[in-house]
Amino acid sequence: MVICPGIGMGRVLLVSLDGACWEALSLMLPHMPALRRLVERHGGQELRSTIPPTTAPAWATIQTGMNPGKHGIIDFLRYSREKGSTSLVSSAGIRGRTLWDVLTGSGKKVITVNVPLSYPPPRQRGRVTVGCMLSPRVSPEMVYPGEVYPVLRRNAYRILPGFIGRGVAVGVERFVDECIEVEESRFAVAEELMEAYEWDVMAVHNQCMDALQHCFYHLLLGSQEGRAELARFYAASDRLLERVVKRAGKVSLLGVFSDHGFTLAERYINLNLWLRRRGYLVERGSAASGLMLLLRRMDVLRLRNRLLSRVFRNSLPFVKLRTEMSLSKIDTRRSRAYIPLGATFGCIYTGGNGELRERLRRELEGIADPETGRRVIRRVYLREEVYRGERAHELPELVAEPAPGYAFGPQLLGEGRFIRRARHGTELSGAHALTGVLVLTSKVAKEAPALEDLAPTVLRALGVEAPGWMDGRPLQE
Ligand SMILES: [Zn+2]
Repeated sequence: MVICPGIGMGRVLLVSLDGACWEALSLMLPHMPALRRLVERHGGQELRSTIPPTTAPAWATIQTGMNPGKHGIIDFLRYSREKGSTSLVSSAGIRGRTLWDVLTGSGKKVITVNVPLSYPPPRQRGRVTVGCMLSPRVSPEMVYPGEVYPVLRRNAYRILPGFIGRGVAVGVERFVDECIEVEESRFAVAEELMEAYEWDVMAVHNQCMDALQHCFYHLLLGSQEGRAELARFYAASDRLLERVVKRAGKVSLLGVFSDHGFTLAERYINLNLWLRRRGYLVERGSAASGLMLLLRRMDVLRLRNRLLSRVFRNSLPFVKLRTEMSLSKIDTRRSRAYIPLGATFGCIYTGGNGELRERLRRELEGIADPETGRRVIRRVYLREEVYRGERAHELPELVAEPAPGYAFGPQLLGEGRFIRRARHGTELSGAHALTGVLVLTSKVAKEAPALEDLAPTVLRALGVEAPGWMDGRPLQE
């Protein structure tokens, strides 16, 4: 690796806030003095996420500097067209070398805590890893080296407070308490590791911000009272940020950023239902149908989130189960267009046919909400417009971005309306959006920074040249 002379060498501290966006932070900054000072001093940028803006592809891009067409990840689940089935992604599923590989290859020392897609932890010299939510439980298998595990035990480490809808089930007050507890233990572990090991790059990921915003985004944008309850979490997150910044001491670069933004889900769209009604998707009967119907009915009584939060401590096994059940109802061979994976953006698989894609794109962009008359899809991206690289052909031919106020719900087939109002307070009210946040202590020279720029930026701060296969460019002036 070439070392660029004359560029400041020091340490890099990265603190990521899952799902942070300026819409939420601007309301919460009065409770976040440390972040507010950083923003006043260095400015706050918008940071463009991946398409779709989900934690898995976003973090694959952050860690490789590549677009999803190269690393091939667009969800926590990987969908195989040939097999018609899905599998959970893992750290081993990131194609190509990561930022951390490049750093340790240049003799730099790295600590990462809860960085998404870092499970199983790579057994790498010079790297200390506490794995992420892909780990089924807190165990010695989620850390490397193994001697780190007692640090987790000592701090009563937890990955998440539980299932993603848990907040809806237990209520805002208790959920805020739980989220604070989880992040406090996470950052305590991070601080201990910063003391115990040498490091050039330290990255720690605040995950609960995402869960909290999914459950209570309507409160965040709502009354003072509801917001005050949530503010306790943002204030706590800010104290944790301030503590790691202090612990780090002098660094050559500090980055606070998010993997994607957030938006209020006022109305949910079920695009698979629309595709079936238009004759694009062919349904098949399956044994799972009865269970699916039951799952949908349970929504009404809040039962679903209550029950699920007891059964599943982690959302991913549930998401996989629901996706498989949903897929089992789609005749993928006879369908001309379908969405095999979950929500966020509509990832539509069509299997080629340029004419069909163009027609679908026009029709999707023209969908009007039967109740409000509003357009429900902001934009449909063609695969080649957003993905470049050797794995692009595995990815969906069309990706639909919902219009403001709309979100894609779980794409379960069934009956009823394909657009419905979101039941705030009994189901998730926040959904992912494309624009996240970036606060960087270096002056940002580039317009419209994107996630793929972060890896080259970290490398530049440490005087390591970014490999040619990275799509991003360093953000420093
Ligand atoms: Zn999320």
